[in-house]
Amino acid sequence: MTPAIELAGVGRTYPGGVVALAEATATIAHGELVAVVGPSGSGKSTLLNLAGTLDRPTTGIVRVDGHDVGRLTDRELSALRAQCVGFVFQQFHLAPGVPVLENVADGLLYTGVPRRLRRKRAAAALELVGLAHRLDHRPHQLSGGERQRVAIARAVVGRPRVLLADEPTGNLDSVSGAGVLRLLLDLHRAGTTVVIITHDRELAARLPRVVAMRDGRIESDTGPAGDDAAAQDRGPAATRAAQEVAW
Ligand code: ADP
Repeated sequence: MTPAIELAGVGRTYPGGVVALAEATATIAHGELVAVVGPSGSGKSTLLNLAGTLDRPTTGIVRVDGHDVGRLTDRELSALRAQCVGFVFQQFHLAPGVPVLENVADGLLYTGVPRRLRRKRAAAALELVGLAHRLDHRPHQLSGGERQRVAIARAVVGRPRVLLADEPTGNLDSVSGAGVLRLLLDLHRAGTTVVIITHDRELAARLPRVVAMRDGRIESDTGPAGDDAAAQDRGPAATRAAQEVAW
């Protein structure tokens, strides 16, 4: 089957010569659940943005659902992103003063779905994240955990096969963070490929696959769960995670 994401020798250098990412190679299959860990500045966000086509690599090849990102026009790239990828960020990125329902419906703006249907799907996505009773609220009327759940609803309203989350619990207290995490794991169980950047080593160790970054490189990758060849190289964290985990 075509992988969800393939990175082959991917590098990203910013103007001024900052090497944010170098020689990153990894394949993520559809249906995987992956943690990306590493110190601040190690290239985690750069990796995620490239994997989600928000950015283009300086070197190497990025394929999303089999499409070589470097060969697509901006318009084709936007279409691919709209169809395939949902993003969740630490800072929520909701439009202030705009009702929750509209914030989520806007996630379908570039998909050609008519407005009425956008609102209907947005309401369904908000129900999925447990916020059916908050459709008319504005973001500032919600708690941090609720705001992040709205952001998740917006990310999945187009039913993307891949969900990329950059420190999704970074701005939340532990109870709200646990709720958001449960939601991401539910989405994974329902079939979505989920990649989560986290500072939380304990959380990462409970996920089936851990990609560790350092100084712009992939320092280690436990590989896909169930991959016996990779399993032989796994550390204790991955072995523990590979066992059935009760959430
Ligand atoms: P992380 O997510 O692990 O904190 P990032 O991917 O955000 O790391 O950053 C990796 C490196 O690239 C850092 O040194 C950072 O300062 C640099 N960097 C990130 N974005 C930019 C940018 N837009 N311009 C220049 N340097 C950047």
